[in-house]
Amino acid sequence: MYRNEIDRYVSKHGFGAFSPKAVLFDMDGVLFDSMPHHASSWAKVCSEFGLHMTPTEAYMHEGRTAASTINLLSNRTWGRNATEAEIEKIYAEKCRLFNSLPEAEKMPGAAQVLEQVKQAGLQIMVVTGSGQASLLSRLETNYPGYFAPERIVSSKDVRHGKPDPEPYLMGLKKLGLQPWEAIVVENAPLGVRAAVAAQIFTIAVNTGPLPESALLGEGANLIFPSMSAFAKQFKEFIANSL
Ligand code: CA
Repeated sequence: MYRNEIDRYVSKHGFGAFSPKAVLFDMDGVLFDSMPHHASSWAKVCSEFGLHMTPTEAYMHEGRTAASTINLLSNRTWGRNATEAEIEKIYAEKCRLFNSLPEAEKMPGAAQVLEQVKQAGLQIMVVTGSGQASLLSRLETNYPGYFAPERIVSSKDVRHGKPDPEPYLMGLKKLGLQPWEAIVVENAPLGVRAAVAAQIFTIAVNTGPLPESALLGEGANLIFPSMSAFAKQFKEFIANSL
């Protein structure tokens, strides 16, 4: 199993090999079960400011930076980009709403995946569109020893957020690796698009309400219904990769 997907990836990009040395994890919806809270806070803050976004739409836009999301809605509703001041105000309110909700739980199965990645001798990095300090600091508390500050690429490190490949290219650069030496784990369509554009082998975990086609359509190389399902298959997958 998995050999076909790996061969297809290698030949699609014309690489000589696939030899993973690191796994780049997206954060929300992969390491934390935080997307329901993000989706409801976005929906609420948008209606407060006269913009409109349904929770399902929040999942479709997941991975974008806050500024990009706000501008998309602002253009649709007001026919113009939001001002810096509007973006700041809306995002501050979104963060306030998000932080008023109970802390998001660790994603079931994520700890088992991280443990196996470490055991396999692969490096670990997180690449997120979020800049929310609360979640970034929770990485160390919830997954101690896995994510040193230099192992995090957040919205503060890049000019262009997902779906631009820049965040994942930045992750590769920080690790000194080539695309065929890494694996991305993503849950969002735009995150998959970013990783695929960075030419990295992309594993989608469908932890939200969207159909699998939303992730496969963006070019995911493999898909699992949950992080727990991925954890169960990790050994077999990695045995075919190393
Ligand atoms: Ca995500």
